[in-house]
Amino acid sequence: MSFNIAIDGPAGAGKSTIAKQLAKELGFVYVDTGAMYRAFAYYFLTNNISAADEAAIAAACPNVTISLTYEDGVQNVWLNGENVSGFIRNEEVGNMASATSVYPVVRTKLVELQQELAKTTDVIMDGRDIGTVVLPNADVKIYMTASSTVRAKRRFDELVAKGVECDLDEIEKDIIERDYRDMNRETSPLKKADDAYELDTSELDIDGVVNAMKEIIEKVR
Ligand code: C5P
Repeated sequence: MSFNIAIDGPAGAGKSTIAKQLAKELGFVYVDTGAMYRAFAYYFLTNNISAADEAAIAAACPNVTISLTYEDGVQNVWLNGENVSGFIRNEEVGNMASATSVYPVVRTKLVELQQELAKTTDVIMDGRDIGTVVLPNADVKIYMTASSTVRAKRRFDELVAKGVECDLDEIEKDIIERDYRDMNRETSPLKKADDAYELDTSELDIDGVVNAMKEIIEKVR
């Protein structure tokens, strides 16, 4: 039986940074489900399909194949045979992913793939609906949060380090908008599973969060 760790929470709470480090330390595979929704969004963007056009989205879905591969523990996401990992980490794709992940037709396909992966592999999987929908029987569930101000500042620092010009208030506004949509959509909204541990990372550094997570995991392992 595989051991599954589910991490959910809003954008910028620190899920992927922590999950990556923990996966390395525990020898687990890190599955970034947001990258799958981003790859889907990238398809819609490059094919000029509007997020508001549900019929066009539904018609396009059968033409989209998404898969994951791992190289030295690093996840690559493939869209119809093309490695799109380098094209999906920007605000345009992130916002499109949030706008198109509301459609059940998009979610069903990706959830199946995520469940298949977790069946046979020890995974740390992060997203918005992992503890509630994708892996309701996960061995450990964590709901990671942080204030929107802290999350915006983290995103701002990340972009500045990459040499991208940006505005802190704009970023916070974007984050609040995205959270609202993720938490209030009809299908699989972002929410804490009843049996998830809640971890507020606002006041913690990376090591602090990793240590807190390890304590939680050790209790059930
Ligand atoms: O985590 P990330 O910012 O990469 O996710 C992009 C978007 O994909 C989220 O804002 C959310 O709308 C969607 N998503 C989702 N379910 C997941 C992972 C991501 O709906 N499990």
